[in-house]
Amino acid sequence: MEKWICQTCGTQFPPGQTPPGGCPICLDPRQYVGHNGQQWTTQAQMQAEGFHNIFKEHEPGLIGIGTEPKFAIGQRALLIQTPGGNILWDCISLLDEQTAEEIERLGGIQAITISHPHYYTSMVDLAERFDAPIYLHELDRQWVMRPSERIQFWSGDQLKLLDDITVVRLGGHFPGSTVLHWPNGTGGRGTLLTGDTISVAADRRWVSFMYSYPNLIPLPASAIRHIRDTIEPYSFERLYSAWFDTIVESNARQAVIRSADRYILALEGILPA
Ligand SMILES: [Zn+2]
Ligand SMILES: [Zn+2]
Repeated sequence: MEKWICQTCGTQFPPGQTPPGGCPICLDPRQYVGHNGQQWTTQAQMQAEGFHNIFKEHEPGLIGIGTEPKFAIGQRALLIQTPGGNILWDCISLLDEQTAEEIERLGGIQAITISHPHYYTSMVDLAERFDAPIYLHELDRQWVMRPSERIQFWSGDQLKLLDDITVVRLGGHFPGSTVLHWPNGTGGRGTLLTGDTISVAADRRWVSFMYSYPNLIPLPASAIRHIRDTIEPYSFERLYSAWFDTIVESNARQAVIRSADRYILALEGILPA
């Protein structure tokens, strides 16, 4: 029995003799089936092909973990170290022994929480290895491909975790899309981890919001307004989105508000000059 992994989105499926008939995550209009058709791999095959994980400390207490060479969407997890224990935000497809040992050395994982289904990847493997619960928003329940007793669905708009950390549901990209607010991050000025819920633009003073990133489908103004109004009360200096280098270094809260306003104006036909 193999735990098959979709090569295009990186999602791991339950053990099976043969690969699943298709990947619902990639068949959804927010994603796409790879240009050579549906392809599957396994963690053993990935290791044999030379895939491995790298660790990068972004700032004290915040370590990025990502796979090289780039795999699937290029998912990168973030390990937040707090006095009460570590939280893993977002996830990756490859958990090999070296990665597990390095996470162990960094203090293990107390809880896992994930921005949205494109980052569910091999979350159950990590939860089992570190005996940690996975907190997912219930509105995205249908996108869990490998069910597990470790998954705890939450509802509403806020989930409190260790060290005053709050997971906030903003919706948009997915109904249950969330961000993580870490008030003690970035030297106590506050940090926001966003996955694809808020995406850092090429000009890293700006962010954006999409229903589909690969297929370039925007969100309606109502969704952007909801994101803007929900995040406005939170204080944060820096923002980390989906990849290693997608970071708004400073004034990130203002960047989100100003980008939401620009987006709504553009939808109304008023383009930035
Ligand atoms: Zn897929
Ligand atoms: Zn996504």
